This record gives sequence, structure tokens and C-alpha cells, in this order.
Amino acid sequence: MGTLVNRHGEKVLRDKRDSSQRAFLMAKEIAEGRGPLYWDFRALSEETIQAYEREMDHEYPVTKQWLNQKGLDFRKDLIPMQLVPAAINGALLTDETFRTSLPGLYAAGSSCAYLLGLSQAMVSGHIAGEQASEDAKRFPDPVPEAGQLAQVQKLVKRYTKKTDGVNPTDLETAIRTIPTDYVGYFKDGDLMKKGLERLAELRTQSLPKLFAKNPHETMRCLEVRNIFDMVEMHIRASLMRTETRLAKNGLWPHFRLDYPHMDPQWEKLVVVSKVNEQMTLTTEPIPDLKECV
Ligand SMILES: Cc1cc2nc3c(=O)[nH]c(=O)nc-3n(C[C@H](O)[C@H](O)[C@H](O)COP(=O)(O)OP(=O)(O)OC[C@H]3O[C@@H](n4cnc5c(N)ncnc54)[C@H](O)[C@@H]3O)c2cc1C
Repeated sequence: MGTLVNRHGEKVLRDKRDSSQRAFLMAKEIAEGRGPLYWDFRALSEETIQAYEREMDHEYPVTKQWLNQKGLDFRKDLIPMQLVPAAINGALLTDETFRTSLPGLYAAGSSCAYLLGLSQAMVSGHIAGEQASEDAKRFPDPVPEAGQLAQVQKLVKRYTKKTDGVNPTDLETAIRTIPTDYVGYFKDGDLMKKGLERLAELRTQSLPKLFAKNPHETMRCLEVRNIFDMVEMHIRASLMRTETRLAKNGLWPHFRLDYPHMDPQWEKLVVVSKVNEQMTLTTEPIPDLKECV
């Protein structure tokens, strides 16, 4: 195993306990000014390095390409790493059969609240699939609403009829920095409000200028619109929860520097819904999900 070190070459994770709260310790290291962080593989045996190389060939070939592009040799160089904290904890709410509030729509795996990891993704996918096939027998064939289709066509044409403007990948790159910079591992109310202002600025100034040169870019334009909403939901929900709540390993954090303690009154969900076309935030008790047989 390589060693994670800070800018001064000091070990960031010293023992098993540190390792179990690595995301928190890495974020702290950066926040306290000892970043950037690096992986140091230089003390590993040639045999271990070759095993890593084989693993990269099979599972992460992009890592080898990245090292080549940067001219880095992990036998000799420190490998810079960026912490991208998984600090967005929200997803679709379902019942225990993975039905959402929209009849006929199911959510499983990563798209579903509470579920983390492969085993839960597989089990929920199985249950949701079974449920959907049962429901499909009862539901009549879907009839598309003419008004809704016309609306979608109008939206798509908005991007394709322009010949100049903002490229969707550029705008996506710009919005993606907002969750990391304004609502990342350590959150603060004033900073999050600034994040909302930055998002609103991009929404009014750049979103209307999006344009697509081909169907692939049209898809990216539609995705960018969704990412705006996702980021806004994440910031608003994080602002609403005025407490700190962490899983014990420091992963999936909600760490409010301005509300550093866990508050039992917040033992509940923040639910974001669309009400009269408006993003609306409410709280709900954590549902008592029944075991599915
Ligand atoms: C770096 C990393 C390490 C992980 N390590 C582990 C681990 O060690 N053990 C573990 O149990 N879990 C691990 N996980 C979590 C695990 O990968 C996820 O829980 C699991 O992959 C979720 O499966 P899923 O099918 O719900 O979603 P995904 O695997 O994300 O699949 C969703 C698919 O939908 C596609 N898609 C998205 N939008 C559209 C669209 N509009 N149209 C068509 N297709 C679309 C995507 O391209 C993707 O193929 C890890 C995750 C990451 C990111």
C-alpha cells in the first residue's frame, strides 16, 4: 500500500483508526493549509508495483493514461491527488418496494436515497424490477401527452437552432466547481449563500446561451440544465440542516462549521419537492421501512 503524504512529506494516515476516517483527515489537512496531498509509492517493492500495474490495466486503464500524460512515474515521483468529497447525500425517496411518488417510476441503487454500495444496488434493482413488471401488467399502455411532447421539442430546438453561444461541456465544468468550492466537505452558511448567488449568476447569464452542434451536445445541454437543479437542491438542503452529522468514518459528511454539533431535532429528512413549479423544502420523519418479502 502507498503512503498518503501532505506537502511537507508528512504521513496523513498513521494507523488503522486514521484510515477509517480518512476523508475527514484529508479534508482537514487541506483546510489547515498542508495540501496538496500526494500518494507516495516509492518505497514499495517492484513486485507490489507490478501487481498495481496489472490491476490498473484491468480495472483503471485511464489512470495509466493520466500518469503518462503528466509524465509521472510512480516508481520515482509523488502522485498528486485531489479530494472530491462525496458530500452530496441526497437521492430519490421511495417506499420499500422502490416506488417513487410518480406512479410507474422506480428508483434503485445510487439513484435511491439510503442505498450505498453494490450489494444494496443489486438487491434494490431486483426488487424494483420485479415490482415494475407486476405493475406493468396492471397499467394501461402509456399515452404521451401532446402538450408535454411539444414542450420538450421546443426546449430541444432552443439549443439546436442557435449557431453560436456557450458550449455545454464548458458550462458543466463551471457548475461542477460550485459544490466543491461552496458546499464541499466543510460547509458554512455564508459560503453556501455565496454559492447560491454564483449559481444564479451562471443560470441567468450562461444557461440561456447554451447551444448544441450535434445530438450528442443536445443531450449534454439537457444534462447541464439538470445539474443546475441538482446543485441548487444540494445547497438549499445543506443550508436548511443547521447541525453537523457524520457517518462514523467521516465519509458522506454533513459538516457545518457554523453548527458543529449533532442536533437530535434534526433526526429527520430534508425533502425537496416541486410545488407549483417551485423548488420547495420541507422536513419529514425518517420512514419506518418494512422488510420486503
Ligand atoms: C470510486 C468508487 C469506488 C467504489 N467502491 C465500492 C466498493 O468497493 N464496494 C461497493 O460495494 N461499492 C462501491 N462503490 C459504489 C458502487 O459503485 C455503487 O453503489 C454502484 O455502482 C451503484 O450501482 P447503480 O447501478 O445504482 O449505479 P451506476 O453503477 O452508477 O450505474 C448507473 C448507469 O446509468 C447510466 N446512466 C446515467 N444516466 C443515464 C441516462 N440518462 N441514460 C442512460 N444511462 C444513464 C450510467 O452511465 C451508468 O452506467 C464505489 C463507487 C465509486 C464511485
